[in-house]
Amino acid sequence: MNSSQLLVSNARKYPQGEAVVSQAKRVNFNELNQLVNQLASVLQEKQIKKGDKVILFMPNVLEFVVSYFAVQRLGAIIVPINAKFSTKEVEYIIEHSDAIAFIAHELIFPVVEKIQNPNLLIKTGAAVDGWLSFEQLISAGSDEEIICTLKEDDESTILYTSGTTGNPKGVLFSYRNILTVAQMICVEMEMKPESRLLLMMPLSHSAPLHLFLMAGMIVGATAVLTPTFTPDLFIDTVVQEKTTHFFGAPVAYLLSVQNPKLKEADLSSMKWWVYGGAPISKKEVDFIKQAFQTDNLVCVYGLTEAGPSGSILIAHEHEQKAGSIGHRAPLHTELRIVKDTGEDVAVGEVGEIVLLGEGNMLGYYKNEEATKAAFIGDWLKTGDLARFDEDGYIWVVDRKKDLIISGGVNIYPKEIEEQMLQYQGIQEVAIIGVPHPEWGETVKAVFAAKEQVDIEKLQYYLAEHLAKFKLPRLYEQVEALPRNASGKILKQPLRNVGVVQ
Ligand code: ATP
Repeated sequence: MNSSQLLVSNARKYPQGEAVVSQAKRVNFNELNQLVNQLASVLQEKQIKKGDKVILFMPNVLEFVVSYFAVQRLGAIIVPINAKFSTKEVEYIIEHSDAIAFIAHELIFPVVEKIQNPNLLIKTGAAVDGWLSFEQLISAGSDEEIICTLKEDDESTILYTSGTTGNPKGVLFSYRNILTVAQMICVEMEMKPESRLLLMMPLSHSAPLHLFLMAGMIVGATAVLTPTFTPDLFIDTVVQEKTTHFFGAPVAYLLSVQNPKLKEADLSSMKWWVYGGAPISKKEVDFIKQAFQTDNLVCVYGLTEAGPSGSILIAHEHEQKAGSIGHRAPLHTELRIVKDTGEDVAVGEVGEIVLLGEGNMLGYYKNEEATKAAFIGDWLKTGDLARFDEDGYIWVVDRKKDLIISGGVNIYPKEIEEQMLQYQGIQEVAIIGVPHPEWGETVKAVFAAKEQVDIEKLQYYLAEHLAKFKLPRLYEQVEALPRNASGKILKQPLRNVGVVQ
């Protein structure tokens, strides 16, 4: 069954079942299917067909879901873009993806307005000169069922990586890739038609899109959408909508832990608090569990290129192993840690995580070289360095690209960052390697803190906890560190410094 048929089937099985809640709108599966048919018929009239690329530039709103399934119904390929991307980033993706249509939403009209691209066939989203509103666009459509004949191996989606390690790359998925990881999460997280999935993280990313929206469509669950994330909105929505599952980056939880609303809030509907996308320490886990009055905090590890299925650390495992990413890959996935030679590492030895599974991307769009470099046979190279402990649990040591090699010795920034974050007042840190004439690279700390930090005292503190060769030689205190649209620290702009003498 392709994903468009899943919606048709839900419309028959649960016509009155709540499909989407978004900005005070509620639609059931029958209504959602009708909206999808209407929009698909309009797109069909505009000659959108199988294989065409259609950009969705929207926050998490009902229109996103309607457009997503309407584009799929025609066999066209969806290219969702993070709603926080700048005009320049969007233009790069329009150009690179060969998109012929662009569906935007009025909430991000100021960015859309500046986009100049003659290739765009359709521009919708806001009732401004030359643009149709979503309602106007849809009203021209017919709600006759359009039969989608897509097969599982057909191309489905291109997701652009967030670009923390370079220019965004277009990750191309088949329907099989997406449905496999969605199925995995349905099983691992006990999703059912009664489940209510809270989607606050951008639907342009693989975890919210595949693990939550698509998984919800497989079982006929409700998707509760919010166009932005704020701690207040987060807590209010859980309480009002009685949601059962939430996925968020650690930062979403950490921003919310001190919110006074948490103390009074009735969060008892929540069954699964899921986090992933970035590491989290034992101390932070304890803090979150206490603030959210839960023992059911679950970690998922993965990357866009893997759909993002990688590994999972379930709730009770946090007691002993918080900070690890678990000891097993979930359903349909296998995980190994290998040396540069491709051999498996011994316990405690650092190597690269490689993944095998149906969730693995077909490849990078229009980038054969990068695709070739991303695989060893069928195994996807994650670029994440990790080790197994004696119980078989996996600990991510760092990203390969962030590794600092100073005087021939490997230095893992994450270890230094974690230590610096323990220092009073320090709020965020990036440890980077900067060029050095003798050692190749040397360690630099760029950090933000509540107050001006006395570097001598900080150095003294670090020297007590870290080996001498790991100690930063340079320090720079800044207001805030640059982050990408999904909240991850961008190290590349920080590296643009001269050679250290
Ligand atoms: P780009 O690929 O452009 O650099 P990105 O890193 O933000 O962008 P994602 O696919 O969103 O792309 O991130 C995947 C990476 O995030 C993983 O390779 C890993 O380094 C990190 N990551 C994901 N989940 C976890 C987790 N639970 N714990 C630790 N790190 C994680």
